Amino acid sequence: MKAVLMPKDAPAVTGEADEIARMQRLFERQMRAFDAAPYPLLAARKAKLRKLIDALRRYQDDIVAAVNEDFGVRADTETRLVEVMGPILEARHALSHMGRWMKPRRRSTELLFLGNRAWVSYQPKGVVGIIGTWNFPLYLTLGPLVAALAAGNRAMIKTSEFSPRCTALLTSMLAECFEEDEVAVCGGAVAAAQAFNALPFNHLVFTGSPRVGRQVMRAAAEHLTPVTLELGGKSPAIVGPDADLADAALRIAHGKAFNAGQICVAPDYALVPRGKSDAFAAAVADAFTRLYPTVGGNAEYTSIITERHAARLRELLADAQSKGATLLRCGTDPGSGRQMPLTVVTRVADGMQLMQEEIFGPILPVLEYDRLDDALALVRRGERPLSLYGLGLSAADQARVLKETHAGGVTFNDWGWHVFQHDLPFGGIGHSGMGSYHGEEGFRELSHAKGVFKRQRWFPVGLFYPPYGNFVQRLVMKVFIGSATPKPPPR
Ligand code: NAD
Repeated sequence: MKAVLMPKDAPAVTGEADEIARMQRLFERQMRAFDAAPYPLLAARKAKLRKLIDALRRYQDDIVAAVNEDFGVRADTETRLVEVMGPILEARHALSHMGRWMKPRRRSTELLFLGNRAWVSYQPKGVVGIIGTWNFPLYLTLGPLVAALAAGNRAMIKTSEFSPRCTALLTSMLAECFEEDEVAVCGGAVAAAQAFNALPFNHLVFTGSPRVGRQVMRAAAEHLTPVTLELGGKSPAIVGPDADLADAALRIAHGKAFNAGQICVAPDYALVPRGKSDAFAAAVADAFTRLYPTVGGNAEYTSIITERHAARLRELLADAQSKGATLLRCGTDPGSGRQMPLTVVTRVADGMQLMQEEIFGPILPVLEYDRLDDALALVRRGERPLSLYGLGLSAADQARVLKETHAGGVTFNDWGWHVFQHDLPFGGIGHSGMGSYHGEEGFRELSHAKGVFKRQRWFPVGLFYPPYGNFVQRLVMKVFIGSATPKPPPR
């Protein structure tokens, strides 16, 4: 499967050069501030997370309004659930556990060094860069921010050019909580994103497409900046032979309709047992219509972010239809503006564009399989996805799915909810990304795990110095590698 090809019609941004100059100044300020206070204590880190939680609670109506303006329509509840509650849950989880995460961890020494001490100490890396996307402009920037602050770092956030109102809101909300040398928000379009990417951050968390992810990693390599890449891909949903079809259809319809399918972990396509695709498509259509009796003008049904993104989705449908697919548009409402009803596509072939790139919208291709082995082989043939879903699989088949396929994360009997469990790591594998955040893994990702060895004064390490070949060295070599070093040369 090919890389995701998202539209590149970035809106023109004025003052791009000023923004680039500003981010350079900010970076230097943050580096200086970090050098002056390189290890914030637990209480200071907790205070920052509490400020963030308070601000999210206070600003929630403004957040709903800003996201709504950027999208055209975004369901109020979806915004509160993901953009407001998501980072709050993440911060609350960190507040409960970060005291333990910060503690040095004792490790064993080699037998030879018995009586000495070894431990791992977790140190803030410094200034962390965070690049986010438009589909969840707050959750996907504030989530990494929670991990960065819990780990004692400073952070600069670069938002997407497709969510300018959210950028403005995030800027003022975070300015109320933090000094700019602690947390800062940068706007601008692609040139600004590239300039941001060129800064020598101590760590960079990028959320976006695999195509841009490659560029980000290349640019970060210039400074050997470590990267966490949170990318996308084609996340499969496997419906088991004995699954309750109506229930599986409801779960998948919800995954494709929430934020109008513009979610990195949305089920991209469904795999159903041979002969069931028409019944499954009808069940998805039925479920969608119950969830959204109308589409056009429905304040609970999210718009596609721009006309260009909507045109891309329509092109995917036209391409599939021209190559023999059957299209089932859910409901009778054709939608209006950028509100597009879900379309289920059956009789799908590999050569169709919608099987070659991440869909990221309300289109669901349905493929049939004969045996579970065939479904797993099909998943393995593609790039490693960000998520994988199994619905109505037996326990034995769930175990096979886990062992025989790779995916960033998995939800059984539903879609997406593993991401909302903030004690679980969230991240991709291969084409869907590298590294992870959320919970303890986020803290570790943005901390430097420093291995420390402390020799006790009395420890006779001099026995390992030259001249080589003394009795102790010979004995040690004999015991550990089965041969003795030669006797010392005469002096
Ligand atoms: P994108 O890759 O086009 O853009 C992401 C961000 O990168 C934007 O802020 C953009 O300004 C910036 N950017 C663009 N060009 C850049 C460059 N050359 N150097 C540095 N930064 C650059 O992605 P998008 O269209 O905003 O989002 C959709 C993609 O993101 C999908 O593939 C989706 O699966 C993925 N995604 C992943 C996650 C996740 O958590 N894994 C979450 C949401 C979206």
